[in-house]
Amino acid sequence: MSTPGNQDAVASPVLSAAELAEVAEFGAERQVTEGDLLFAAGESSYDLFVVLEGEVEIVAVLGPDDDAEHEPIFVFGPGNFVGELNLLTGQRRFLTARVSKAGRVLVIPQPDFRRLMSLRPALAGVIFGALLARRELLRTGEGAQAIRIIGSRYSPEAMSLRAFAEHSRLAHTWIDVEDAEDIEALLGTMDLCPPDMPVVITPTEILRRATPAVFAEHLGLTYQPTPGYIFDLVVVGSGPAGLAASVYGASEGLRTVSLDAMAIGGQAGSSSRIENYTGFPNGISGGDLTARSAVQAMRLGARLNSPCEVVGLRVEAGFHVVVLRDGSEIPTRAVIVASGASYRRLDVEDLERFEGAGVYYAATDLEARVCSGRPVLVIGGGNSAGQAAIHLGEHNCSVTIAIRRDDLTQSMSQYLIERIVADPKINLLTGVEVDGLAGEDHLDEVTLRHTATGQEQTIPCSGLFCFIGAQPATGWLCDGVLLDGDGFVLTDRQLVGSLTAGTSAPLPFETSVPGVFAAGDVRNGSMKRVAAAVGEGSSAVRSVHERLATQS
Ligand SMILES: Cc1cc2nc3c(=O)[nH]c(=O)nc-3n(C[C@H](O)[C@H](O)[C@H](O)COP(=O)(O)OP(=O)(O)OC[C@H]3O[C@@H](n4cnc5c(N)ncnc54)[C@H](O)[C@@H]3O)c2cc1C
Repeated sequence: MSTPGNQDAVASPVLSAAELAEVAEFGAERQVTEGDLLFAAGESSYDLFVVLEGEVEIVAVLGPDDDAEHEPIFVFGPGNFVGELNLLTGQRRFLTARVSKAGRVLVIPQPDFRRLMSLRPALAGVIFGALLARRELLRTGEGAQAIRIIGSRYSPEAMSLRAFAEHSRLAHTWIDVEDAEDIEALLGTMDLCPPDMPVVITPTEILRRATPAVFAEHLGLTYQPTPGYIFDLVVVGSGPAGLAASVYGASEGLRTVSLDAMAIGGQAGSSSRIENYTGFPNGISGGDLTARSAVQAMRLGARLNSPCEVVGLRVEAGFHVVVLRDGSEIPTRAVIVASGASYRRLDVEDLERFEGAGVYYAATDLEARVCSGRPVLVIGGGNSAGQAAIHLGEHNCSVTIAIRRDDLTQSMSQYLIERIVADPKINLLTGVEVDGLAGEDHLDEVTLRHTATGQEQTIPCSGLFCFIGAQPATGWLCDGVLLDGDGFVLTDRQLVGSLTAGTSAPLPFETSVPGVFAAGDVRNGSMKRVAAAVGEGSSAVRSVHERLATQS
């Protein structure tokens, strides 16, 4: 078997004769001749192929009009299997598999692939490891050319597409028109013009003025209703609480779907390094942690869809009906509300104009790369602000942390304060608030007001990172779900005395509506930490079982 340079043993395991005998039970053999396509980019097909004899090449197709011959990204021979992480995520194929030497393959249809993954844990470990490794190779290598996002780093629309692609761990390439010497010439080569921006080029389509919703729909990642299907559990939100609920729900046999308005990860996905989550002594980026949980949930059988904003919830004929922004309705026996919280917006003129174009609510690698080497301002004195400042400093930004208080000691952990004090790239401004934003297409300057004196100070700023007061995402909940004065969901013991006579006593994590549970940051009194959200999401599933048992 020939192996292109980046192909390694984990990504391309060769199954032994004994393993081949095991997989044979799950599929059917097919003869293939040179030039046959096992699958083509753009197809929604999810069979796994095992090469028994001959050779299969994986190639990228660079846009709908591309008929050039490209070097193969992978070459698979006898004992290798052909497939990628999309077998679990439901993403349409973005690469093409072509037979380069005639032979035989074993075709394992998706339901049988899932059966294999659940019944043969040792083999599943090998296959799963390869699927993950392949995705990482594709994200960093030639495979990333198959999906290209083109736009300006200063465009909020382009930024939201990139954030969706990053959080969803899509193999893709970003082309920044700001780096082109002649933008019109660059776009002209692709038959595009500036008003088309941002553009997504996939193997089968060019999406002009693309949005995450259109992009996700095209990839097959949005929710597709199955008429007559009733879920046991709908989880609203795919942050740590929602992902944990999905892992436990699916692993314990509940038909589970998790829906997120933006992308997988929640607030944790915007954390550059989580240092206090057990099991990761050197810390782990929030993106990595939540991407692993998402794959785990899907491997165990949960469906995860995004962007899918939930806009309503009602009870009908003994079921809960979850309503999506596009009007789709999902009947389910139980709901876990894990919609978390998001940072409050600043009360300053022109904010909207600069959101995504200099004003950000997360400081992941994506935002840090956009601001790299420039002056930035971090607003807020909590741990998330501290982490953001350190991460931006690591990207060579000169960072100013601006807070209203006199110091950080009441709001930030000591280990972060020590690092900030020791970091020459980070400067702390106390007793100030933001008074104005300025810039043409993107943020250039921020005016701060010293609260004690009223004096104003204007500083250069390419990125303002806002981490002030989290607000719960509960606007979509039905009236029957009781909230506290700040909009956080009340559950179990917090409801004593508020329920109408005849309502059953709420189970742990249950809201005032039986069968609707809440976990994580959205819940009144929660710890607002990743580990706490994970614990609550997992524990809420225990109560879901108990409630469903009383219904059946
Ligand atoms: C920058 C940053 C750094 C942090 N660092 C740490 C740390 O180091 N350690 C730590 O323990 N904690 C940290 N935290 C806090 C931690 O991330 C949160 O406590 C945790 O993410 C809460 O998880 P959750 O699942 O409850 O909610 P969230 O993470 O808020 O996730 C909620 C999800 O629900 C989705 N959603 C909202 N409304 C809807 C809707 N209507 N329909 C569908 N989906 C919806 C959102 O898009 C979101 O993805 C940090 C937070 C931030 C922002």
